[in-house]
Amino acid sequence: MEIRVNNVVRHYDGVDAINDVSLTVQSNKIIGIIGRSGAGKSTLVRLMSLLERPDSGEVWFGGERVDNLDKDALTSRRRRIGMIFQNFNLFSSRNAGGNVAYPLEINGVPKEKILPKVRSLLSLVGLEDKIYAPISTLSGGQKQRVSIARALATDPEILFCDEATSALDPQTTRSILSLIKEVQAKMNLTVVMITHQMEVVRDTCDYVYVLEAGKVVEHNTTQGLFSSPKTPLVKDFLANLAPSGPEGGMLLFSGDKGHYILRFAPGATGKPILSHLIKKYSIDMNILGAGIQTIDGESYGTMECDITGDPDSLREMFEDLKKENVKVEEAGK
Ligand code: ADP
Ligand code: MG
Repeated sequence: MEIRVNNVVRHYDGVDAINDVSLTVQSNKIIGIIGRSGAGKSTLVRLMSLLERPDSGEVWFGGERVDNLDKDALTSRRRRIGMIFQNFNLFSSRNAGGNVAYPLEINGVPKEKILPKVRSLLSLVGLEDKIYAPISTLSGGQKQRVSIARALATDPEILFCDEATSALDPQTTRSILSLIKEVQAKMNLTVVMITHQMEVVRDTCDYVYVLEAGKVVEHNTTQGLFSSPKTPLVKDFLANLAPSGPEGGMLLFSGDKGHYILRFAPGATGKPILSHLIKKYSIDMNILGAGIQTIDGESYGTMECDITGDPDSLREMFEDLKKENVKVEEAGK
């Protein structure tokens, strides 16, 4: 389901929370809306998810204008929208299965159909064995899985995620993001990820809108945003991006993996070792990813690269690197 927002404005007594925002969310894509706290993200998502009406402007789902629907039409429209939040919004009085059953109950799904549906939703999110678990016994990641199952109960076409991973640790964040990507593909969902974390955009979004003081200040494909950021806000987001990736602390410059991984011990990161050896042995090097982790004030570097040259020169160069406290690994070994 394509979503279009045209010149939407929303004020709260004196605050221009959303000030003339236009954007398009392509059907069956994951888009990001990123901004700092107070930028207007939650307000925008409330307007797009029809929880609030804009003061002016329009919201369209496919060919239908939806910001001005009457009460009944709005209620049935809202059923086709799933939402998940940072703080999960689960009922602590109901167990995991009871939470997933809730939207089915209020939508009048026959009782005998509810249990099998709840089971299949919980199994989709990897919690089939937690159907009777009280919410208080679940971890943050499990709670977010329950809320994803609940959001999908009414077979929505659109899923809004407002800071869905902001309360989770990095590892749990990755697992929730991959679950969101998995269900997006499986159920042909249009997903809108609201976040203040560039990692979330990097790891999930096809396209991104950057919100600042209620306005879109930059928008691009995720790759375009990373390769040619324009506003100081985006440059700052990128500069503060936590290193991460398959090698733990890796900023990937390319989708490709290098043949070699170099690990720089503390003390090895401050010297121009590589440029020196490249000249000495006249080899070629293509750096595909790199990162530095600081542990107790010491820097540990990791670099993924391709190195090409005469085999004897390579061997000698690797020997020299070893002496400089740089470990050379062949990828996958
Ligand atoms: P974000 O989600 O990006 O942190 P919000 O959309 O929550 O930003 O808030 C944007 C601005 O609108 C803030 O200045 C906030 O104080 C204000 N705001 C949001 N909701 C309300 C409200 N219901 N009443 C008054 N001001 C609000
Ligand atoms: Mg918010």
